[in-house]
Amino acid sequence: MDRERLYRTDGIILHRTDFGEADRLLTVFTPKLGRLRLLAKGARKPTSRKSGHVEPFTYVHMLVARGRNLDIVSQVETLETFRLLREDLERASQAYYLAELINSFIGEGDENSPLFDLALATLARLCEARDPTLALRFFELRLLGLVGYQPQLHFCVECRAQLEPVTNYFHPPAGGVLCPRHGEAVRGAEPLALPTFKVLRYMQTHPWDEVAGLRLKPETQFDLEAVLQRYIVYHLERRLKSVDFIHRLRREARVVESR
Ligand SMILES: [Zn+2]
Repeated sequence: MDRERLYRTDGIILHRTDFGEADRLLTVFTPKLGRLRLLAKGARKPTSRKSGHVEPFTYVHMLVARGRNLDIVSQVETLETFRLLREDLERASQAYYLAELINSFIGEGDENSPLFDLALATLARLCEARDPTLALRFFELRLLGLVGYQPQLHFCVECRAQLEPVTNYFHPPAGGVLCPRHGEAVRGAEPLALPTFKVLRYMQTHPWDEVAGLRLKPETQFDLEAVLQRYIVYHLERRLKSVDFIHRLRREARVVESR
């Protein structure tokens, strides 16, 4: 009987909110059970053994008890804290964005172990990588593939001809890239700068260790971000809140720099 009432899972805390007097409501991404909403009872009490373990972006192992409405965290153990993601504002904003993306694309019961591994690796990269924004772009592109929205970057989505290293066209509703002939004919398809096209293809086919060595020009970085964002917003049918926050931080950093 007890075995049915309890289950164990690894998880990444995506989000938490206060609940009642002393509890927290957690949104947790798990490899096998998708996104879970769990109650951590007493987690806001300073004396609680759970309090330090339910911070956003921590990687945890949990024992969970099935409840009538909400399942309840019975025991929790931290496997990795990713402390820097809560101490550095820029990295924190990137981690929030990662969490918001997962929250948007993964529902309850959506088993996706490869995406879990990718998310975990990306949290580590956001702490350590020379270029955390590149790690985030890599995450976006690979996430799209893992949730069934892999953009087609090798063949024209209209005529299936192999795409040449020229200025092709990008069109989210068509699912990827159009050759120049078809791109010019489709309304809403936008020219895709060749360096951006090359980086996208490289990221889709190479492991992170190789992608991490890329040095992108600022305009390519900017364009890559815009292209991926258009594709994501098209599929989600809405903008993401954390993107506005990242842009605001960037504007403020520029103001400080120019002083
Ligand atoms: Zn074509």
